[in-house]
Amino acid sequence: MNGPATLAAGKEMFETSLKNLQVQYVDFLLLHNLQNINGFKSRFGDNKLFGWLKQQKAAGRIRHLGFSFHGSNAELPALVDLYDWDFVQIQLNYVDWKEMSRGWGSGGGSVTTSEFLYNYLVGKGIPVLVMEPVKGGALANVSEGVAAVMRERHPDLTPAANALTFVGSLPGVMVTLSGMSNMEQLKENVSLFTGFKPFDEEERAFMLTVADLYKSKGQIPCTACSYCMPCPAGVDIPGNFKIFNSASDALLATDISRKDVADKRNAFLKLYEGQDKAIRADACVGCNACLPKCPQHISIPQHMVRIRELAAKIR
Ligand code: SF4
Ligand code: SF4
Repeated sequence: MNGPATLAAGKEMFETSLKNLQVQYVDFLLLHNLQNINGFKSRFGDNKLFGWLKQQKAAGRIRHLGFSFHGSNAELPALVDLYDWDFVQIQLNYVDWKEMSRGWGSGGGSVTTSEFLYNYLVGKGIPVLVMEPVKGGALANVSEGVAAVMRERHPDLTPAANALTFVGSLPGVMVTLSGMSNMEQLKENVSLFTGFKPFDEEERAFMLTVADLYKSKGQIPCTACSYCMPCPAGVDIPGNFKIFNSASDALLATDISRKDVADKRNAFLKLYEGQDKAIRADACVGCNACLPKCPQHISIPQHMVRIRELAAKIR
């Protein structure tokens, strides 16, 4: 349920969903994208929508009531204390376990870690639904250096399978939402979770060393969710981040005389300039309209400036 501002709109959304689904009840109803108590109050509390949803649950029209969380560690307990939730959906993956990075050049801000969110919910006995187990596909497409380290340990697992196994091995995780986009990924996921071989504690600790290596490559933690789109100036925000990430280590390298670094930087420029001018980072006017929309709290305009400066420098 995605933020209707009024009781009437919320009721209508729920009734329309039941009608369209042709069911008498829903198994799981999730309040989407809660970040803090004030956000909950303005979207679901003050308008009495949450009270109405609890009545629907008592009447058997909702079997499980929960929310998805996009805030910082400090904001979670107050939301959890509001109700006897049946589940909570959080962002959890091995790279975000110790800290959800805002990416290079970010100004920091409130801390969010998968580790805290997970431990807090499990400590309260609340089942955990996991979103972004492969960080919007970023952990399926790690750089060769990172992939090689994982391959040495588990030759039979792809980078995506390593990421999913890390999440699936955690007790208390009820569902892992892996965001598949083709039949090949569906088959890989079904095969991985059929006869699932969980990582033990030592293997999970190993994945945290892989996370350190991944972070040292300076990737922007964009999950390509496109919540920031459309940009009023026409910039393809996730597209530009994808191109940057394809060469982030070379773009941020201090020794640019190395041939492999130079090759990667030139490949970046080719991809960057291969885009239509109107959608490149150059087109960003710094309006900040995208900033509050990004659930990863990425400093988007700041990154756009850096990307266009890097491209200009390599040209
Ligand atoms: S700050 Fe830049 S990227 Fe963000 S919405 Fe404005 S123009 Fe688009
Ligand atoms: S909202 Fe944030 S994570 Fe999603 S596509 Fe935009 S920049 Fe990437």
